[in-house]
Amino acid sequence: KTTVIDGKSIANKILKDLKVAVQEHTDKKHRAPTLTAIIVGDDPSSKIYVKNKVKTAHFVGIKTEVLNFPDSISETKLIKTIQVLNSTKEVDSVLLQLPLPSHINPNIYELISPEKDVDGFTSANFGKFCLDKETIIPCTVLAVQKILQEINIDFTGKNALICGRSKHVGLPIAMLLHSNFKNAVKGFNANTIICHRFTPVDQLTKFCQNADVVITATGVPSLIRGYMVKKGSVIIDVGISRIIDPQSLKNKIVGDVNFEEVKEVAGFLTPVPGGVGPLTVAMLLQNTFTIARKRNP
Ligand code: NAD
Repeated sequence: KTTVIDGKSIANKILKDLKVAVQEHTDKKHRAPTLTAIIVGDDPSSKIYVKNKVKTAHFVGIKTEVLNFPDSISETKLIKTIQVLNSTKEVDSVLLQLPLPSHINPNIYELISPEKDVDGFTSANFGKFCLDKETIIPCTVLAVQKILQEINIDFTGKNALICGRSKHVGLPIAMLLHSNFKNAVKGFNANTIICHRFTPVDQLTKFCQNADVVITATGVPSLIRGYMVKKGSVIIDVGISRIIDPQSLKNKIVGDVNFEEVKEVAGFLTPVPGGVGPLTVAMLLQNTFTIARKRNP
């Protein structure tokens, strides 16, 4: 029987504990932790994500500021904004919501001060992560780690497949799965394969059929089908796509996994929505609080 993992309830528990911890922190006369989010352009998904992050931040007692810039913002202005946030004492963490318009250098997030880099995307923080050093870890990685810890299966020497190799999501998740459990960032000691857009589907199928844990982050609906999945394996779906439901003709959010098919085969499965997503937000706020405590001990 497949266990469908309730990401929302795991997230709610983390958020309740975090709320208590933030309250204790402010009771000691510290100011509330702060998170500043920058959105550039009108991407509707970005707006929804940031709105959700802000709402959840308020629940735990984290103060937020959202800077909305038009698509037309110059790179110079954006750079200046980041520099000001870096040097503003009251700003604990800075989040640059992706994607950015094409005229902005995608590496601009490198300018965020590593100590305020709440997503852990800067080379300084990601480099430390790759070298098994204590650092700020990307929120999706922490979300996947939390889910695997909840399932509590030892993946040492087992086969992990990661679909997607983006520098912000797929690659850091692969870093987590292959790395040592004894590290500062507790890894999973798994034999780890990374597939990407150039992986032929027959190869993807073979790797998937052989995988004890699959983590997929591609944004390709129904990439992982029932026949590809090893019986009893763990399937974690990070993907988010908006599609039109062929039956109701309404907008619908789906992941990379064909949920109905895979539910018949997998041992553990995360739904979309309600799986990795809420945990990612909870981890963002946990990172914000960790940063705030460091800056304001
Ligand atoms: P991206 O577009 O940067 O990367 C997609 C990756 O998928 C690429 O590495 C590409 O090579 C790979 N890919 C594409 N087609 C493939 C195929 N047929 N087979 C195997 N691999 C294929 O996207 P991203 O920023 O890495 O995000 C990935 C997905 O995760 C998106 O759907 C995004 O919305 C979602 N996401 C979810 C959360 C969350 O909290 N749940 C957070 C971040 C991103």
